[in-house]
Amino acid sequence: RKVEEFSKVEFENVTFQYSVEGNILNNISFTLEPNKITALLGPSGSGKSTILKLIEGVEAPKQGRVTINNIETRIVGDAISNVVSVLNQKPYLFDTSVLNNIRLGNPKASDDEVVKVAKMVELHDYIESLPQGYHTPMEETGVRFSGGERQRIALARVLLQFTPIVILDEPTVGLDSITERKLLNTIFKVLEGKTVLWITHHLIGSEMADQILFLDQGKIIMDGTHNEL
Ligand code: ATP
Ligand code: MG
Repeated sequence: RKVEEFSKVEFENVTFQYSVEGNILNNISFTLEPNKITALLGPSGSGKSTILKLIEGVEAPKQGRVTINNIETRIVGDAISNVVSVLNQKPYLFDTSVLNNIRLGNPKASDDEVVKVAKMVELHDYIESLPQGYHTPMEETGVRFSGGERQRIALARVLLQFTPIVILDEPTVGLDSITERKLLNTIFKVLEGKTVLWITHHLIGSEMADQILFLDQGKIIMDGTHNEL
């Protein structure tokens, strides 16, 4: 499968603001290459999730271009979901079983495939310990699932998808650094060959990224490799 055909993301001189006051992004340029993991770092409020919205085409740049293989994402519409999978910072979970919530990533996935990704995201034992296991309804378990566990249910969903581009907004929230590294290792192995944008607020695991972007005050203040840090 030639994912390269739809997997190069480019920001060219992109300026963005939500309102008339102040630019969130100020004339930034960078490229996400096929078969590469890019870590996007920066302080809270620096615009990391905004970059995600521009790639998804949910927001459009005020100046400059955001493209996937030279097609502007602002014009793609719903079809973008065939190309880009997203783990949002606050993922939406549905009023159905844990099993179904994960299977939403690929309705054709078998129960075994769902269990496999649940194991990858370190949730299998916990799900098995619930009264109805994988068939436990999310509305009941909503209260006992922590923010990090909810994040990983949505992450498991993303791991079932087949898109060439994957964006993960803080996939390891709430984990200790050892489990975090282990999970990142697993994720990046599963996502090998794709274009991966991994948004994170700290450096743990950044040595696994091929490219590191550091965003601050509307600018990319660093674009390089871990060794160059
Ligand atoms: P965090 O690390 O806390 O998730 P972030 O780097 O993802 O932060 P963004 O969510 O991209 O930051 O937000 C960048 C700036 O834009 C912030 O100042 C935020 O308050 C503002 N902002 C985000 N979404 C909107 C919106 N829909 N309307 C207006 N302002 C917004
Ligand atoms: Mg964010």
